Amino acid sequence: MTSQARASDLLAWYDRHRRALPWRAGAGERPDPYRVWASEIMLQQTTVAAVKPYYERFMARFPTVRALAEAPSEEVMQAWAGLGYYSRARNLHACARAVMANHAGRFPDTEEALRALPGIGAYTAGAVAAIAFDRPAAAVDGNVERVMTRLFAIAEELPGARPLIRERVLALLPHDRPGDFAQALMDLGATICTPRNPACGICPWREPCRARAEGVQESFPRKAAKKAGVTRYGAAFVLTRADGAILLRTRPAKGLLGGMAEVPTSEWRADYELDGAAQDAPLPMRWSRLPEPVRHVFTHFPLELTVFTAGVPQGVAAPAGMRFTPLAALAGEPLPSVMLKVVERAGLARPERR
Ligand code: SF4
Repeated sequence: MTSQARASDLLAWYDRHRRALPWRAGAGERPDPYRVWASEIMLQQTTVAAVKPYYERFMARFPTVRALAEAPSEEVMQAWAGLGYYSRARNLHACARAVMANHAGRFPDTEEALRALPGIGAYTAGAVAAIAFDRPAAAVDGNVERVMTRLFAIAEELPGARPLIRERVLALLPHDRPGDFAQALMDLGATICTPRNPACGICPWREPCRARAEGVQESFPRKAAKKAGVTRYGAAFVLTRADGAILLRTRPAKGLLGGMAEVPTSEWRADYELDGAAQDAPLPMRWSRLPEPVRHVFTHFPLELTVFTAGVPQGVAAPAGMRFTPLAALAGEPLPSVMLKVVERAGLARPERR
């Protein structure tokens, strides 16, 4: 008969093997709620390795919730550029402003009050309440779902299994160290109970783990089949001016890549016809079509952009709603990854992130 999973075994493991992360307080230190919250927003759908350099730069630029709230939104979007999922950056900024306006600059310390803030869903509210304030809250992300479905051999498919997983986490939660427990579960999922080849031999829950006992670890979590998005196509127009400037515009504030900068493009559609691309160009002139399109995958669809280039003499003014940005100042524009690829494909140096 297998033994019962106990929080104390996981915590003993965590005390020896906890990851040192830039946003994590040292053992015995009080975590800064602002840093915990910002890191959790950044880590949504992004890996720890990818977030680390952004997080350090972001904190150097906006060291407090006040600094973030008072920054212009273009500056926040620029610091975020490259992390993807830009609605998170907009919500992050709105949340910092709400904390200043409604909570006197201090993050509220309950799940319920945290959830009322922009961009904070069930997971983030649980994670911040547990990690920053040691509240007995469940923070269930993909790592935790994997560990729990394996530990208890939960065969129900995600996302339907979420309430049950949450229930199991709450039942295990130790009331003396809920913050450490939340982080320990995340670490276990990230370093031991990995999607492929989990290191069950050194797992603190190897005895009680039901999936391990049955040798079917990798069959969990079970997921409902996902529909792949349909590829969309479009044209991107890279127009350079003789004085070393490039034509850009800002995307609408709402929607995909909202508020980010881009070179002018056509609509992105599954049935886009490149033969009519000239009609979508920002200026009627001779455009050169580059042979190899830029490919990029968004959450819901893959995109293929064919790049057209052209040059204009010095003194040409930008069409309405657009601007010429000196190439030397390109790094200061909030260009998303797909646009960095377009600029690079056009033979212009990829701007270094500041
Ligand atoms: S024993 Fe293996 S499958 Fe079970 S929780 Fe530990 S690492 Fe995951």
